[in-house]
Amino acid sequence: MVKIDWGGTFERRFTDPGKVKFAHCGICGSKMKVDRNVLGSSDVAMLLYGRKRRHDYFYCPNILEKWHKRIYALKVAVYYQELAGRPSRSDMKKFKEEVTKEILKLLKKHAVK
Ligand SMILES: [Zn+2]
Repeated sequence: MVKIDWGGTFERRFTDPGKVKFAHCGICGSKMKVDRNVLGSSDVAMLLYGRKRRHDYFYCPNILEKWHKRIYALKVAVYYQELAGRPSRSDMKKFKEEVTKEILKLLKKHAVK
């Protein structure tokens, strides 16, 4: 059975050129594609200030798929619910079980390993 990495929400990664050989998507586990030695902004702050640097850009090949976005949203929802500590423990457990079922169904349907 696939185990869900609840902390893994990275579907893009920016690393120093050549530093990372390969990476796997935190959403679906697929091996990420990579554009090496790209010149551009590698985080939001750099983007805002128009700064650029050389970096490797890793991204999931499924990033634009609807089901991929759904899993991302579900994981983020679980993260914020837990952070807020709002629902009771048993409600949270139930919520997480429902989310787990949906995520596993989506991963199975799209044959992602
Ligand atoms: Zn992915």
